[in-house]
Amino acid sequence: MSLLRLGVDLGGTNIAAALVDENGALHHRKSVGTRVDAGVFGIASDITKLVQELVATAGEDRKISPDIGIGVPSIVHPKTRVVVHANNLGWIDVDLKKYLLPLLSDYKIHLGNDADCATLAESRFGVLKGYDNGLFLTLGTGLGGGFIYRGELFTGGLGFSFEPGHNTLVLDGDHCTCGRKGCLEAYVSSGALRREVDKRLNAGEPSVLKAEGGDPYTIRDIFDASDAGDPVAVRVIDRYVYHLAAGLANYINIFQPDIVALGGGISKRGEAFYRRINDGVERALDWMAPFVKREVMPAKLGNDAGIIGAALLATDPSYQG
Ligand SMILES: [Zn+2]
Repeated sequence: MSLLRLGVDLGGTNIAAALVDENGALHHRKSVGTRVDAGVFGIASDITKLVQELVATAGEDRKISPDIGIGVPSIVHPKTRVVVHANNLGWIDVDLKKYLLPLLSDYKIHLGNDADCATLAESRFGVLKGYDNGLFLTLGTGLGGGFIYRGELFTGGLGFSFEPGHNTLVLDGDHCTCGRKGCLEAYVSSGALRREVDKRLNAGEPSVLKAEGGDPYTIRDIFDASDAGDPVAVRVIDRYVYHLAAGLANYINIFQPDIVALGGGISKRGEAFYRRINDGVERALDWMAPFVKREVMPAKLGNDAGIIGAALLATDPSYQG
């Protein structure tokens, strides 16, 4: 019987957990709302309950690994394994593991950055499978991502992990949620898209998109309106693709991956979107373009990549602590 691994994805809205088998399939997925107000103790006890429910549901005939992997929306300190800075949980230097260990004393707990988890999942079971070097970025409310280098997660010289959203793309550029200016994330997050649309609507530019009233627009509406030729949406998406392509080209230049994939809510667009990105990347790479593998494609695993990757943390050398 195949070994099942416990994976937990701790997000700002939900905590999702499941047992993951050796083929990357999820069993008995469960989730609860994240009680941010309950603090680290409340969240640790909710994680414990989810784990205990999963183990009980699996039954005694299933072999479950004693490793629990937990993906967190933060850098994890490479030595102390403390959650360094989780904006949406309001956590700075929080030792989640210290709270979990007495509650789950039969297990070994591995904490990892959520984007690293998704990258690991895509490399074992998704679009990066079969490639030694794979770059993966997630596009949503923020910009996360990871890099597989020679078959393992690349976590940097000091082990703090790859943080693709907060590298300066434009000096003294747009404000980023991290407090700095000009980060790539400040141009390719869903918030950036809304800000640009609202700026144009407030200036009176004609558009099918409406900022206020009974039916405010969604991120999908902006892309759909752009596909339909709406002048505001076209300009906003052109700007988005221009910056995303420049950011991707930077990472392609540095890491020289065999494959580049995009995940997250915004990545779920059709061929036309990827054609625009790929054209933009080629332009941004300029003379370097012929020397690198640069095709950008959508990820495969969707939202469950975080749980699957968390369950795999114990199997990656970077996270065996
Ligand atoms: Zn930033």
